[in-house]
Amino acid sequence: MAKRVQGKILIVDAISTNRIVLKVKLASAFYEVIQASTADEACVAALRHNPDLIISAMALPDCDSAQLCRKLQQNPQTRAIPMMVIGCRPHADTRLRALEAGVQDVMLKPIDDTLLLARVRSLIRAHNTAAEWQMRDDTSRALGFAEDVADFGPPGQAIVVGTDSAHTGALIELLTPSLRTKLTYSAPETALRDLTPGKVPDVFILVLEEEDSHSGEVLRLLAAIRATAITRHAGVLVLQSRPDPGLGAYALDLGADDLMTDGFDRKEMSLRVKAMMRRKRVADQLRATVRTGLKAAVSDPLTGLHNRRYAMPHLARVAEHSAATGRSFAVMVADLDHFKRINDLYGHASGDAVLVEAARRLRENLRGVDLVARIGGEEFLIVMPATPLSEARAAARRLCRKIGGTGFAVPGSSDPITVTVSIGVTIGGMQGKRMPASDKDANHLLDAADKALYEAKVQGRNQINLARPAA
Ligand code: GH3
Ligand code: MG
Ligand code: MG
Repeated sequence: MAKRVQGKILIVDAISTNRIVLKVKLASAFYEVIQASTADEACVAALRHNPDLIISAMALPDCDSAQLCRKLQQNPQTRAIPMMVIGCRPHADTRLRALEAGVQDVMLKPIDDTLLLARVRSLIRAHNTAAEWQMRDDTSRALGFAEDVADFGPPGQAIVVGTDSAHTGALIELLTPSLRTKLTYSAPETALRDLTPGKVPDVFILVLEEEDSHSGEVLRLLAAIRATAITRHAGVLVLQSRPDPGLGAYALDLGADDLMTDGFDRKEMSLRVKAMMRRKRVADQLRATVRTGLKAAVSDPLTGLHNRRYAMPHLARVAEHSAATGRSFAVMVADLDHFKRINDLYGHASGDAVLVEAARRLRENLRGVDLVARIGGEEFLIVMPATPLSEARAAARRLCRKIGGTGFAVPGSSDPITVTVSIGVTIGGMQGKRMPASDKDANHLLDAADKALYEAKVQGRNQINLARPAA
């Protein structure tokens, strides 16, 4: 059986033997390879094939790799594709220019195959993760939940970890002037110890010293960073004080996002840290947008309560649980009385203020396990798990009093205004009897509570009414 393709890589190089050598290496690791010999061809191929990674020669017939990188970034369809460059001993300038343009790594010939493949895996892994979040973000956008997020951010925090505090301290001093990011030193054994969810660095810079004796300690920390919930999404840059391709490949496979193989270089490191901060910020924004999007999907912006979309499946779950435990549960619909008049007399803003305050009073006078959701304009659904009839009745009466007993302050009136509520109550999964099948149906339960509510309105409002038990 054919092995699953690991990803699609676009090779850009004018020299066909270079392309072939690289293609053989990548194909043997089960990557699908596409080729281009100029920057123009590369742009066309990137659009057509949407590769997971682009590996380009430093110099191309029509422009250099930095310019190609910029071109790709100008097109929203190719902007997110990671790119790495392979060069022959270039002067530092060309290398820095490529990094500055957004190239993620520049590898120099002769290339160590193990390190090359580890780097390729790492870049594709990061790209796929970003793409998944992007997809979920697209879904939230399609549903209309996403807000635009500003693309500037706080300066950020980085922890620089090394076994030699004097050497690491010197690195921090050299780096600090060229970065907005705040750098602090930590020894490997304390780097994770003092972190709290509010104080997690954006980036860890892990320094591997010349002699190998301590690298195990630092790499164990890298694995721990990836395994710890609060640091899982932090960027990790590993600095090797001397080239060691095997160790570098290992660090990438353990989850390092970036690797410097040839020792410290102030300019190069600050470029890499900046790029990492940028990627981290975009990823954080995406995750936050998806989270807010999901939250927005199930909550009511005015009152902060859950909405119907959340409440109905929740009610179904409570009913199911009740069938398993044999304990009854209460379902109530509370509807503000003559709410239209409040809007008419005091204005819509006053109506809104009443809704917010009513939601607060309902919420505060129920247990944590009870759900209050806003399921209509001035209509609330309350679900109380594990609740017998007597308790439900007492709770409904209490809520009625809490709304009607104290006036509401509203912008449209100098005096607090009187607001009352009517509540229909039904009990699901009656104790002592077999649970009727209809009690497992959220819509049916809601209907029963609604009918009870209607009776309460007919009886004169500002009161509760219990649904007649099913025959
Ligand atoms: P009843 O006692 O029979 O429930 O009478 P009611 O006036 O409360 O009921 P009705 O359903 O006739 O009117 C509800 C009003 O609630 C109509 C609508 O304008 C208003 N409303 C719905 N959503 C909002 C909202 O978000 N803000 C404000 N201010 N008013 C709302
Ligand atoms: Mg009403
Ligand atoms: Mg109503």
